[in-house]
Amino acid sequence: MTIREHTEEIEERTLHPRACRSVRTRGRLRPLREDDLRTCFQRDRDRIIHSKAFRRLKHKTQVFLAPKGDHYRTRLTHVLEVSQIARTIARALRLNEDLTEAIALGHDLGHTPFGHAGEAVLKEIHPGGFDHFEQSLRVVDVLERGGQGLNLTHEVRDGIVKHSKGKGLIMPEKVEEMPVTLEGMVVRVSDVIAYVNHDLDDALRAGIIRKADIPGEIAKVIGSRYGRRIDTMVRDAVGTTIGAGYGRVGMSDETVEAVYRLRDFLFDRVYESEGIRAEFQKAKGILRALYEYGLSDAGGDVYGDVPSGEADRHRLVCDSIAGMTDRFALMTYERLFLPQQWSVL
Ligand code: MG
Repeated sequence: MTIREHTEEIEERTLHPRACRSVRTRGRLRPLREDDLRTCFQRDRDRIIHSKAFRRLKHKTQVFLAPKGDHYRTRLTHVLEVSQIARTIARALRLNEDLTEAIALGHDLGHTPFGHAGEAVLKEIHPGGFDHFEQSLRVVDVLERGGQGLNLTHEVRDGIVKHSKGKGLIMPEKVEEMPVTLEGMVVRVSDVIAYVNHDLDDALRAGIIRKADIPGEIAKVIGSRYGRRIDTMVRDAVGTTIGAGYGRVGMSDETVEAVYRLRDFLFDRVYESEGIRAEFQKAKGILRALYEYGLSDAGGDVYGDVPSGEADRHRLVCDSIAGMTDRFALMTYERLFLPQQWSVL
């Protein structure tokens, strides 16, 4: 018996009957010989962590553009916080922690530079539209490893593409929008738990809002301190899922209501506030200029061998811009469009 088979046997004995067992994966896009140490989901997690797209998350915006302060979240720390929360919930529910971790670490690989400002620009210019969750799947299926993709399992890919909700429901009503595994649902819930809490924390740090601004009824349900708020939501998700007999992962009506109110408060006072909006407009201008440059005859300078077909060219430019970090986009813009200063010799 290999070590992997031993791990699979432990999963069989210890996980909840509704958990997704590694041996029952629907498999990969291309067949791959099994590893003798790691289960398929452990292997997917490792492939994600070793990818270039994962490393770039460190220089991508969460809310604040290319933040100079050391303590603001970036897309990378967001993903790590989602992973921590999701693993805590998965472990408490006896779900597959490795699958949960792989989905959590991979869910935002397709995020653009400058956060949602980047997503909005690509949606507007790219003829096929743009969504970061579809792009995350494209990164792992196609773009990584020089066009080969990471060849991940069906369950990890499904969790990645179905993590997103934007301003929509935390748990969708349509079955086809719901992740096929409970582990995927755990990540979907954990993503919102992570971001409403850390974005609130960062906005307080930046002085965009004050503690006294947070509506009292939100604090009454989920607590007034950062750690307490996360703890309340995590416990609620675990308790509600067990109480519902594992039919689906979710939070109680009261907590969900408080989370929606907190999210609305953040949209109103932070994401769509005057200060942030002004910076977003500048960021959009930069990405539009980089996109147009890619379509021009000079585009090869930044985007390499640009194909002659229009749709292919759009695809290449869109993928390249989506993959850029905030600082790479700023540097490229500066090089292309700003006069260089004379340096003292
Ligand atoms: Mg996320």
